[in-house]
Amino acid sequence: MGFKDEIKRRRTFGIISHPDAGKTTLTEKLLLFGGAIQEAGAVKSNKIKKGATSDFMEIERQRGISVATSVLAFIYKDKKINILDTPGHKDFAEDTFRTLTAVDSVIVVIDVAKGVEEQTEKLVKVCRMRKIPIIVFINKLDREGKDAFDLLDEVEQKLGLKVTPLSFPIGMGYDFKGIYNIWEKNINLFEGDSRKNIEETIAFSDIESKELDTIVGEKAANRLREELELVYEIYPDFDREAYLKGDLQPVFFGSALNNFGVRELLDCFIEIAPTPRPKDSDTRLVNPDEDVFSGFVFKIHANMDPKHRDRIAFVKIVSGTFEKNKPYLHVRQGKKMKFSSPNAFFAEKKEIVDISYAGDIVGLHDTGNFKIGDTLTEGEGMNFKGIPSFSPEHFRYINNADPLKSKQLEKGIDQLMDEGVAQLFTLEMNGRKVIGTVGALQYEVIQYRLEHEYGAKCTYENFPAYKACWVKPKDSKNEEFAEFKRVKQKFLGHDKYGQLVFLADSEFSIQMTQQKYPSVELFFTSDFR
Ligand code: GDP
Repeated sequence: MGFKDEIKRRRTFGIISHPDAGKTTLTEKLLLFGGAIQEAGAVKSNKIKKGATSDFMEIERQRGISVATSVLAFIYKDKKINILDTPGHKDFAEDTFRTLTAVDSVIVVIDVAKGVEEQTEKLVKVCRMRKIPIIVFINKLDREGKDAFDLLDEVEQKLGLKVTPLSFPIGMGYDFKGIYNIWEKNINLFEGDSRKNIEETIAFSDIESKELDTIVGEKAANRLREELELVYEIYPDFDREAYLKGDLQPVFFGSALNNFGVRELLDCFIEIAPTPRPKDSDTRLVNPDEDVFSGFVFKIHANMDPKHRDRIAFVKIVSGTFEKNKPYLHVRQGKKMKFSSPNAFFAEKKEIVDISYAGDIVGLHDTGNFKIGDTLTEGEGMNFKGIPSFSPEHFRYINNADPLKSKQLEKGIDQLMDEGVAQLFTLEMNGRKVIGTVGALQYEVIQYRLEHEYGAKCTYENFPAYKACWVKPKDSKNEEFAEFKRVKQKFLGHDKYGQLVFLADSEFSIQMTQQKYPSVELFFTSDFR
């Protein structure tokens, strides 16, 4: 198989959901289809569980699991499927945002009873910004939930999507009889037996046929006929181009726990989901089937073993092939590097491979050379776009609690920030360091890891900021910008790329600033360059 064919058979995607909607369960069932795992329960949940163990132990446990489950790959019907893991916990949302820069499409899992939840809203918003193709899976149909039409409305309204159902439930909860597959025109009857791997489906091109009454009962049959009529009336026909552009989202119903409706989802997915997509760089658009390799780091994971302070940098291959021991250019550092043991990921394992293709993820051992967002090429001096930092929601001063270990502290902070655990701002006025995070949990992670991996101790102190706004003056020499800097000096700092940031203490203060200094633009992500 030529390398272009290899690239064409890749489908790299992420599953996103609010915690508990069924992401882990669905992932596991998908892996079963690929024959990648043999039994249920093999995929470990990377959820943060509050309970008997103290929080940081839980974080460590979670960190161990999430190395293993960062990328789960398997072959299904000759397609190479790469599932990129996205943490559901809101304190790790930034991680998920970054992973979304490396996927070519997503599946959104929604709980039929709970409907669209907060975390789903946030994540889908990011997908929409990036025009990522989305398939919706409505889960837990074996339970009593919302009416299917109401739910489709809710998905459209709360998530700002335009949906078209490709399957439709026959009953729900106690009365759940099965699913009519609009895409394949067949019926799958629900027997509630999760051990079954592949269900028999009954082909059904004509739902008017009396046979339907025999199979599901007259009442359910009539109801399905009415509902399908409505579906055809209300929703547009599926249009692959519109789906690929992010303008139309197909919806499937099922029950991941019962492995029901999952095969349908997967079969449709491999047919419609995009092959690796082109990506924009600061100089040009890069196509996956170009001969030369290019890729970017979207995630960095510290080694679990504190004695070996090396890390794994996860690289999404954007174009060409990545080969073992071949020299590649680390564009930011301007130096060539070779990798003797690049990891590729399969179900639950990682192994060293000689060659990987656009669409794949490789894990590279790193001793501190990489930052999130770094580009690797075969020599071209370009940088991929689109790994923005989002404004943190919590801010604290970080202080050194052990004066003899200030070097270690600095190094630790530096490396943890490269990993993207949190963001560091250095105040312009006095050089003090402020750490910004998405969730309060990260402060524990940082403190724990500084101590255990770097031998440094830190304490925190509240810093009264509400949002970080990246600052760009229309004219850096004008009077207005000078005054802005003078008046706001207490709240100004630099991020780790040296960009000026205004740490505003309230929404009101942001608004006032915008009114008073219209020529000083404020941005809520670092993506404005
Ligand atoms: P995640 O947080 O999104 O990864 O959710 P999990 O996959 O861990 O599922 C959360 C809970 O919902 C678990 O107890 C699952 O067993 C349960 N669950 C998942 N899918 C289904 C389903 O189809 N039906 C029912 N009744 N429960 C489900």
